[in-house]
Amino acid sequence: MTVKQITSPTNPHIKDIKSLFLRKYRKSTGLFLAEGLRNLLEAAALDADIRQLIYLQDMRDRPDVATLREQIIARGGLILEVNQDVLEKISRKDNPQAVIGVIRHQPKDLSAIDATASKACWVVLEHIHDPGNLGTIIRTVDSVGATGVILVGQTCDPTSVEAVRATMGSLFTVPVIQCSVDNFLAWLPGWDGQIIGTTLQDSVDFRSVAYSNKLLLMMGNEQSGLPPELRGRCHHLIRLPMAGRADSLNLAVATGITLYAALHSWQA
Ligand code: SAM
Repeated sequence: MTVKQITSPTNPHIKDIKSLFLRKYRKSTGLFLAEGLRNLLEAAALDADIRQLIYLQDMRDRPDVATLREQIIARGGLILEVNQDVLEKISRKDNPQAVIGVIRHQPKDLSAIDATASKACWVVLEHIHDPGNLGTIIRTVDSVGATGVILVGQTCDPTSVEAVRATMGSLFTVPVIQCSVDNFLAWLPGWDGQIIGTTLQDSVDFRSVAYSNKLLLMMGNEQSGLPPELRGRCHHLIRLPMAGRADSLNLAVATGITLYAALHSWQA
């Protein structure tokens, strides 16, 4: 049966869904959670593989929910109609979204990048730790029409509930590549575009650089910044001047400002 009514928070389906809050289960199942009808409509429109749709039973007759339900059933997915009590168990928000999806993650590695493309802008995030920052950056990359994000090293998970929530649906449009530091360093010589790193040390004002329309923009970790092995591969190291008492900008803010500075080049 593809549509089930669930009223008990201890139902095994609900237990499986709750396990997806943990990275190890997302990894072992290849599934993640996305909240909100708008996000799920976007995911379906972009052909994401939605394996389960969970919604508050009162939503059943809404035309957009009905359309989504039919699409998911047609692809062999499962529909769970739940009550408020159950919904609160699978949503960590104070104000739970009435619609949640279980989606199959399609991990991408460096082979998914077309290094021969004449125009591209990839944001490289080294050891990023904060899922809110990661989701915000994915959303910003989408907003400026940049190409995608490359996660290098041990990073937070782009499919955690926090990261997915912060992307506001952009996770379904922005390619996110994941690789080790060694694999990234081995791949870099095949990149014939510009490489710009952001750092406060030994760098120039970000307004003094001519940005290419084929760009890798390297951003460092929230605590330790960009490591020497990546700084050493950059054509330019840039900084956003700091005028007050704060010693650096938030990573997502710094990425957004730099992307807007470079925007005109790859849109030209
Ligand atoms: N303590 C770290 C350092 O010394 O680099 C600061 C890390 S900062 C919170 C995180 C990342 O945001 C940096 O690695 C860099 O990529 C970017 N960033 C933050 N503020 C910046 C600024 N004023 N200029 C250039 N990049 C900046």
